[in-house]
Amino acid sequence: MKMITICIPMYNEEDNLVVLHEKLVELAEPYKGTYIFEFLFVNDGSMDRSLDIVKELTQQDSRVKCVDLSRNFGKEPAMLAGFDYAKGDAIIMMDADLQHPPSTVPKMIKEWENGYQDVYGKRVSRHGESFLKKGFSKLYYKILGMFSTVPVLPAVGDFRLLDRKCIDSIKKLRESQRYTKGIYMWIGFKKKEVTFEANERFAGETKWQFKSLVKLAIDGIISDSTAPLRFSLVSGIVIALFAFIYMIYTFITTLMYGNATPGYPSLVILILFLSGTQLIFLGVMGEYIGKIFMEVKQRPPYLIQEYITAEDDGKDTDS
Ligand code: UDP
Ligand code: MG
Repeated sequence: MKMITICIPMYNEEDNLVVLHEKLVELAEPYKGTYIFEFLFVNDGSMDRSLDIVKELTQQDSRVKCVDLSRNFGKEPAMLAGFDYAKGDAIIMMDADLQHPPSTVPKMIKEWENGYQDVYGKRVSRHGESFLKKGFSKLYYKILGMFSTVPVLPAVGDFRLLDRKCIDSIKKLRESQRYTKGIYMWIGFKKKEVTFEANERFAGETKWQFKSLVKLAIDGIISDSTAPLRFSLVSGIVIALFAFIYMIYTFITTLMYGNATPGYPSLVILILFLSGTQLIFLGVMGEYIGKIFMEVKQRPPYLIQEYITAEDDGKDTDS
């Protein structure tokens, strides 16, 4: 019998876990006799009772397993841990806060049965998200699209089903500076869209602050494109050319009309403009050098404390 892993990265989600587990049990019910399920929780250094609750769940339900990371590494490394420990022939990534409705999962499984290897959920509405966040997100995908070599789809997140082939491919990409949304596109394989209505967070608060969103946004552009570097070079050339023409112009006008020491404002403007652009491009290069620095250390993307399963793992999968 084929196995489907449902993987849930979690960070301080104590109030969601029991309800989530109930939903997962409900979800698996109609597939009795067709698929074996595995509910793989990745505890990303939660500081609340999340781990205890999942430990209890492993005792009640042998399908529940848990990878406990040694600290909070962030969702991206936590997902990689999920890919590493998943035993299924397919994996379904899901948030712990029930924003990804379990009712969409059967649609995904259906498409997988039809032969698609990467069935991704596309949000059709964003309940409970601010107008600002939606607006930024739209603008961001526009900019990302301009820079990236592989297109990243807007409104498509981590809620998706991936075939074993995709999982094994993703496991090969061990970069510690991960941008999984870009990785999904990079690996290719047969993709299919499934739409879903995102719910509001069931309980608890979002872990994303504006700061981490900005980081993720920059990572998205920089992790699989060198276009910003080229952009720096080209604009450097354009600005330098402009300055050169301006120099010749000043030279000629001074020869013809003399110099009555005007031009102080334009001087200041030029200096400010040039030093500003220089700083921006230094920053762009700095971002890449930073990534290289992190990457050459070759640290593992995450460390684990423990892999927790029920003792009779694998025998009694129907309980
Ligand atoms: N998450 C995680 N590590 C983190 C932050 C978040 O594993 O450092 C998990 C979180 O528990 C949830 C999922 O990633 O299951 C999505 O997080 P959240 O709901 O806070 O993000 P949002 O839906 O607001 O984008
Ligand atoms: Mg959420």
